[in-house]
Amino acid sequence: SLWTRICANGRLSSILTIFNQLHSLGQTIGEEITRVRDKFILFLTSPTRLNKEFERKLHVHTCLEDVFERRLDVQIIFISTPALLGMETFDDSFISEITVEPNKESVKRRSYEYDPDYVYSSPKKRLPESISYMRIREIVQLWIKHPKWKWSTLKRNGAPEIPNKATAYKWRRQVQQGGNKSQKLEEINNHVSQQLQEARSTFKIIKASHIRNWAVEKFTTLGRSTLNFKCGRGWIDRFKKSHKVSSRKINRLVSKREVRSQKTIHEAAKKFREEIKLLSSNYDPSHIFNTDQCGFSYEITPSRTLTTKGEKIVFGYAQSPTNLSTHSYTVQYIISMSGEILGNVFVCLQEPCGKLGPRVKLDVESYLPSNVTLTCSSSGKLSTSLNEYFLVKQVVPKVSQPFVWIVDSWAGHTNLSSYNKLFGKENDMPEICLKIIPEKCTSLVQPLDTFFHRQLKYLAKEILASLEVLLNIAGVHQEDNWNTRHGVIKLQSLLHFFLSAPIFKEMIKYSWYSSGLTVGGGSAGTIVANRLSKYPGNSVLLLEAGGKPNPFMLWPAMAYVGQLKVPGVDWITSVLIGFGRMDVTIKDGQRFGTYAAFLQGKVEARRNLWIYLYSRAIKVHLDKDRVAYGVTYRRHGKTRFVRARKEIILSAGAISCRVNLPVGYNLQDHALTIVGPFTVDDNKAASFLRESNAISLSDYFGRNMGFISTPDSSSGVGYVCSSLAEKDWPDIQYTLIGASTTIPIVSMAHNFKPAIVAPGLPRSRGQIRLASSSPDDKPIIDPHYFTHPDDMRIMTDGMRILIDLIETTQAYRKIGASFATTPLPGCEHFSDLRSNEYYECYLRQLTFTVHHPSCTVPMGKDWRDQRTVLDSKLRVFKTRHLRVIDASVMPYIPNANLNAPTIMIGEKAAHFIRDYWAQQFLVCDMREFLSYRENRQCFYCRLV
Ligand SMILES: Cc1cc2nc3c(=O)[nH]c(=O)nc-3n(C[C@H](O)[C@H](O)[C@H](O)COP(=O)(O)OP(=O)(O)OC[C@H]3O[C@@H](n4cnc5c(N)ncnc54)[C@H](O)[C@@H]3O)c2cc1C
Repeated sequence: SLWTRICANGRLSSILTIFNQLHSLGQTIGEEITRVRDKFILFLTSPTRLNKEFERKLHVHTCLEDVFERRLDVQIIFISTPALLGMETFDDSFISEITVEPNKESVKRRSYEYDPDYVYSSPKKRLPESISYMRIREIVQLWIKHPKWKWSTLKRNGAPEIPNKATAYKWRRQVQQGGNKSQKLEEINNHVSQQLQEARSTFKIIKASHIRNWAVEKFTTLGRSTLNFKCGRGWIDRFKKSHKVSSRKINRLVSKREVRSQKTIHEAAKKFREEIKLLSSNYDPSHIFNTDQCGFSYEITPSRTLTTKGEKIVFGYAQSPTNLSTHSYTVQYIISMSGEILGNVFVCLQEPCGKLGPRVKLDVESYLPSNVTLTCSSSGKLSTSLNEYFLVKQVVPKVSQPFVWIVDSWAGHTNLSSYNKLFGKENDMPEICLKIIPEKCTSLVQPLDTFFHRQLKYLAKEILASLEVLLNIAGVHQEDNWNTRHGVIKLQSLLHFFLSAPIFKEMIKYSWYSSGLTVGGGSAGTIVANRLSKYPGNSVLLLEAGGKPNPFMLWPAMAYVGQLKVPGVDWITSVLIGFGRMDVTIKDGQRFGTYAAFLQGKVEARRNLWIYLYSRAIKVHLDKDRVAYGVTYRRHGKTRFVRARKEIILSAGAISCRVNLPVGYNLQDHALTIVGPFTVDDNKAASFLRESNAISLSDYFGRNMGFISTPDSSSGVGYVCSSLAEKDWPDIQYTLIGASTTIPIVSMAHNFKPAIVAPGLPRSRGQIRLASSSPDDKPIIDPHYFTHPDDMRIMTDGMRILIDLIETTQAYRKIGASFATTPLPGCEHFSDLRSNEYYECYLRQLTFTVHHPSCTVPMGKDWRDQRTVLDSKLRVFKTRHLRVIDASVMPYIPNANLNAPTIMIGEKAAHFIRDYWAQQFLVCDMREFLSYRENRQCFYCRLV
């Protein structure tokens, strides 16, 4: 199959690959090659992973000779890429040896000499074989201008295309007669194409009748004698195809004035770009800002739906169809040239009287997220006075150095009195350099308009359109409505959280790049550390028991069940609604955890952030007033103590929380079982051993693609309902396995495809206890799986549905899937392998964890509730300055995998902390303060 793949693709990943594969294919190569229809086999060798393993070349040589004897009409051509030719490891005798000619008559030889100085240049374009009629006419006109020239003089003086005397005279005759049939057609084509371009340059609306008119017009000037031209539909279709002309939807209608001013607009945009580029050399990119409003509607609906063909009117459901096209509210972001978002997202809601009523105001204030600044107007749009409010709230507290402020020419933005009132030395504020984008140029040069707003809306649309899926994953109740005032604020807060992540920095930079203003473009603890250390007033020490991620574990294929990207496997989608691809965290073919995303290489350099790897915290110290003040940790064999000035945050996961707290009683985890074995037709299951070859390695290292870039064992996920599930609320999760590295038997077998079943919302509760008071002793983890009878019922339902699915769906039938006929060891006494009793026995014999321990330090509303440990701001009850931020804080386990919810907890908690400390002030003993003693005892006091 490798051989056919090579031939089908016409591409090889490396010479080494051929070596290895030919070696193993041995004598069968001759038969394989007969499948190839083409007379040519191209060995296109890429420069990746080429090493000195050319010892096997003689063997390959023999193999190929064998091939030649059998298929003498096959032409072998070796083409080496330039980089390969330049590689020092390349053995130049190789090519000449490999391209021997066993049969000189039938096998043509083409070998390339090894030239270390070879510089690649793309192949030159071949001269066109036929000369266009336009060119012929030019030549003839030149000749007419110089009637005394002989044809040879004409050839020397500007017409080298003339092959001989007869052709020269023939061309003259043809031009005098207005050309032959094909030349006349060519002329008509050129004329129509030219007319079309001219018309489109002034935005004229063109129809097929225009094309016909232009063609007929030209035809009549050419004379009808030699050409019978009807200008039918066929000709118009051919013309459209050959000139890549198609019917397009008109996005915007423009007036005559705008058509005339297009040139002026482009010139103004160009001038503005140059001005900003020049200016940007005097300012730090983090002090060059762009801001603009973006209209949003409460309900965002997709403009398309999938439905059956032939439906005359396609209806789409919307909660308030009449309000959809209207501008409901405005959001305003400030982005910097360095790719950051300045401050909060500014939201202006549309309220009937232009303001919130007193009760609504109180309600909004109770839930308003800290990253949203809210205002309202009767139109939902900003006025000049609201723009001033925006500047006061969003810009004044954030700028400390002179900055560039790029805005469009809307009157509110150009109101200089607002800027004079707020900025400049006289106001004890940094200078503002206001740059107003020329009129009509915003779509060309405003970064927010060229890219950012489109992405913002797309993200919002994606979130709302797939709300159902999101609700499933996040465990939010389905009745939540996002088309309300509350929903809108939540949505905008979520979008702001997303877009503030470092990963979107490059996207924001790209906005600037796409506008042409710059040249060139670039799990819970890590997030908390990143977010808190962003403010120079905070000093953050991150103690981490482990080290940096194991580089091998960054390979998706080495990852455990599905944290990563799954390639498109079409049969999954066709099985059942509720099955789909798994959302995974992967970037450039590598697993992309929170350490890589939030800390590595990005903020390690922050002077107020210390990351101590291999440092295990062993004790959190509380004083007599239960104020947390320090941590004892062990690093490189030494025990040390560190004092915290503000807070101690425990993000050690649901298992490792070992402070003396009433923790560990609410342990929840997703148990899983591997259903199977299912056998499939031989070689239809991916096998890790078979697929781990030079091709997959070179695909991975060369292009971040292929088998290694797929997650270990998962090909897809499914969510279905058991008999105990609430309506439309799935409580079973399936993971469909392709090939595994971590489940040994799966990694070796070629015909084995198990699937994993896990309960989404387990009802059993486990417990974690300390084995002793020593921090070195591992805790006792008692998960109590299946102690609640409902869990067993859900899982047996899950097994039954899955087995039915695999045995009855066409997709699985195609690969010959069938459930084992022998019982699982331990359950041999069951004869009916489809009974609930057998399934229960199976589950008790073969249960693992999905590694989702959580809820051991749950938050709650009231400290009197014995089951809760934390308040809603994740502070430990009856203590001060001690928080827990990780997967353990959840009261209930989410109905899906845990990483994403934990990341969100980290984001939200970082905001709680920032807000809390923003409301405190530092109180110091005056003498200590003045003496600048290093260990001075200060404490914080609440201002409000
Ligand atoms: C093998 C595996 C596969 C998983 N697959 C998925 C998946 O596919 N999808 C998904 O969504 N979720 C998955 N999860 C779950 C997800 O990774 C966790 O739910 C999530 O990481 C929990 O985050 P956390 O911050 O609570 O704890 P963790 O991410 O576990 O972080 C706790 C950190 O604290 C450190 N630590 C512990 N004790 C101490 C101490 N005393 N001193 C200093 N440091 C300490 C640990 O070294 C660790 O780095 C998987 C988990 C595992 C283990």
